[in-house]
Amino acid sequence: CGIVGYVGEKQAQDVVVGGLRRLEYRGYDSAGIALVVGGSIASAKRAGKLANLEKAIVDSPLPESTAGIGHTRWATHGAPNDVNAHPHLGRTGRLALVHNGIIENFDVLRTGLEDAGHELESETDTEVAAHLLEIELGSGHDLTTAMQNVCRVLEGAFTLVAVDAEDPSCVVAARRNSPLVVGIGEGENFLGSDVAAFIEHTREALELGQDQVVTIRRSGVSVTGFDGTPAEGRRYHVDWDLSA
Ligand code: GLU
Repeated sequence: CGIVGYVGEKQAQDVVVGGLRRLEYRGYDSAGIALVVGGSIASAKRAGKLANLEKAIVDSPLPESTAGIGHTRWATHGAPNDVNAHPHLGRTGRLALVHNGIIENFDVLRTGLEDAGHELESETDTEVAAHLLEIELGSGHDLTTAMQNVCRVLEGAFTLVAVDAEDPSCVVAARRNSPLVVGIGEGENFLGSDVAAFIEHTREALELGQDQVVTIRRSGVSVTGFDGTPAEGRRYHVDWDLSA
């Protein structure tokens, strides 16, 4: 229901949890976070209030990281429990994915994965996309290309945000019929399901079109269509009154 992504110089955990806090007004039943940490992914997820996730990461602190993603879930496929909460990690743990929306053709995709020997641990539509992304990474594609390739086989409405343990320099997201905005910083960039996710840090935003993939790095942001052709978002300034 809410999504946050960050790459920059700050502690990603603080930015991501702060963003999730600002998205709480949307309602949710579970929350989770994934950070890229020197070649691996560190993650935590919990059913219930954000406070449950915050307690989990106080009890078992996550390592320092400057690239991360976060999610608050409004369950559509699978009960609101710890296993179905996002992020979903695929089978090697190389990739972490969060998702808002519904992947309509997840059933046929899931059957295909299971026939190919994949074991899925959750009941979510999201986990199939995590496994598909991991297959693409395993065949040598970078995360941006993997995202483009996977989005072309997905049907439905989705915002996807992913990180690859092997590439801490970027966070990659995609959208179809589901909200996603980019926050433009200096030496840091943000993703959010709405601007509330990053308004504490920047008021410069980039609105994306339908069926677009965006890659954020410290140094900048690049946008393509699902077919890989370069695209551009629309820059705008957010002039909300934060005290309101
Ligand atoms: N369909 C996904 C799930 O049930 C995502 C739901 C959401 O938008 O939070 O896990």
